[in-house]
Amino acid sequence: MNVPDREADRLAALRAYQILDTLPEACYDDITRIAAHICGTAIAVVSLVDENRQWFKSTFGIEATETPRDVAFCTYCIPQNELLIVPNALEDARFATNPLVTGDPHIRFYAGAPLTVPGGQNLGTLCVIDKQPRQLTETQAEILRALSRQVVQLMVAHRQVRTLEQLEAALRASEDRFRLFMNHSPALAFIKDEDGRYVYISEPCTKKFDLPMDRWIGKTDIELCGPEIGSKLRETNLHLLAGDKSGTNLQTVPTPDGRSEYWRDYKFTFRDVDGQKLIGGFAVDVTDEQRALAAVQLSEARYQKVAARLGETVGDLETANVKLKAISVTDGLTGVKNRRAFQERLNEEYDRATRYQRPLSLLMIDVDHFKSYNDTFGHPAGDVALQMVARTLEECIRTVDFVARYGGEEFAILLPDTDYADALTVAERCRSGIAAANWPHRSVTASIGASTITETMGDGFDLVREADQALYTSKAIGRNRVSHGSGTISVASMTRTARVSASH
Ligand code: GH3
Ligand code: MG
Ligand code: MG
Repeated sequence: MNVPDREADRLAALRAYQILDTLPEACYDDITRIAAHICGTAIAVVSLVDENRQWFKSTFGIEATETPRDVAFCTYCIPQNELLIVPNALEDARFATNPLVTGDPHIRFYAGAPLTVPGGQNLGTLCVIDKQPRQLTETQAEILRALSRQVVQLMVAHRQVRTLEQLEAALRASEDRFRLFMNHSPALAFIKDEDGRYVYISEPCTKKFDLPMDRWIGKTDIELCGPEIGSKLRETNLHLLAGDKSGTNLQTVPTPDGRSEYWRDYKFTFRDVDGQKLIGGFAVDVTDEQRALAAVQLSEARYQKVAARLGETVGDLETANVKLKAISVTDGLTGVKNRRAFQERLNEEYDRATRYQRPLSLLMIDVDHFKSYNDTFGHPAGDVALQMVARTLEECIRTVDFVARYGGEEFAILLPDTDYADALTVAERCRSGIAAANWPHRSVTASIGASTITETMGDGFDLVREADQALYTSKAIGRNRVSHGSGTISVASMTRTARVSASH
């Protein structure tokens, strides 16, 4: 360590003792008095060498409290570990012109013992001074050294006391902070030792149970709450101590007004700095949350009930809807689809056929002389006959075909993927099927008009119009016949052909 570092280290040590500018103390004054007396000098000083001054902790024989460092004799003493003795300053080149020698207090004799602290730094001196030249006997020198060590002992002791005071203040502040923190906390808190005796209880807890702090500390739950509750609490604590596990519980506490409070507690074990096992506990009031939760659960249950009822109603409605829909597209007398359903299906099939370039044919079927059938056999017999016609038609077609009652005694059949030739085949099967059926009163026949989609058609109505015209033709040329309107040989070529009719 070079010189400036050493001086910085010395000054740091001096600061650490926190002695500069403190008030006079009798214990130091006793030492300067003894030193002057033993050495037979007029003056004795405990001097501490600061950066720019020497400051006197104690003086005997002079009034000064400090002098500038550059005139101080002590400055010459602190770099060495031995006594500095100046028998006659006037004869010493270092001091002959010093203002303290040439002027007041006219120093002639100086003997200083360094104040060496445990860190090895010399913080100042215990020195004796006289206005007369002098010498120190060996004994006087020895006592001066001993007294300088006593000064250091005092400084060390004072420093320790100050450090302890500061530590105590910090500890007190920390304790105060912890206590205030716990007292402002919404949680009730406690710490018990292994025997179940309270070593700490928070203020909210003492207030909650209306029992002052000093009644808790050192007591067990059995002593505080009686054997019944106390033993239960002890049992929980022992369980905790055995397993070292933390636990949480929801406690229901009855209130004087007959309601319930809910407390969520957290208990755990830990060891203090000495290794002693402790039980810690917190309890938080969760009454509001619990009541809110109960309300939510209640309304949830109500909601579930309502939803269940609603579900049943919706189920019924859906079933009813399905039934309604079926009714709305079905002809009540014959059970085949009604005219409304036919119109919808016609549009769908027409779109599909034009989009995918597939053939599509339509048959319009009208029962012959049906008015007279009714007139002769009665309207109910007519109804039965219409039902028979419907059954017969259903037997003559594929499942992809679509039969509907178009009007009073008129039926329509949509034949997807069916070209001109096939349409005629199906029409003929229908016609002969009706004619050959086992009629109860007299033979019943029907006339049929067929049409097949062509590229000149604009929509499904064109298909209906053509089939109608063909039906008219069938009626005109004698009934019980099949005619095809302006048709095509095959839809793939979409070639328009001459109107043809097939008679049977
Ligand atoms: P055409 O050979 O020219 O078709 O003669 P038609 O008598 O069959 O034709 P018209 O249009 O003169 O008569 C149709 C008859 O169909 C009249 C009506 O009484 C009968 N009809 C229509 N709907 C029903 C029904 O639901 N039940 C019964 N029993 N008869 C019906
Ligand atoms: Mg008719
Ligand atoms: Mg008719």
